[in-house]
Amino acid sequence: MTYVIAEPCIDVKDQACVDVCPVDCIHEADRILVIDPEECIDCGACEPECPVEAIFPEDALPAKWQAFVAVNAAYGQGVDAVDALVTSYSD
Ligand code: SF4
Repeated sequence: MTYVIAEPCIDVKDQACVDVCPVDCIHEADRILVIDPEECIDCGACEPECPVEAIFPEDALPAKWQAFVAVNAAYGQGVDAVDALVTSYSD
């Protein structure tokens, strides 16, 4: 299990979550912030900080935003891979 950043973050990227993450696993892509599932320790510190409620534990992610599991995990292939998925989601 990991935490996932979903659609409300697109074009917002508030950064409050970045400041509280103890392992610096929240990364910036072009239009969204993402959580690297390989680094996240599931502490939950970021979730209440998000002003647009974009962060969820993966098992509580709303069904309409399931695509964002892959968007966040794409960070493992690099920021360009994240950007490509966000572009295809938004089209
Ligand atoms: Fe960072 Fe904790 Fe949020 Fe994971 S759950 S992204 S470790 S603040």
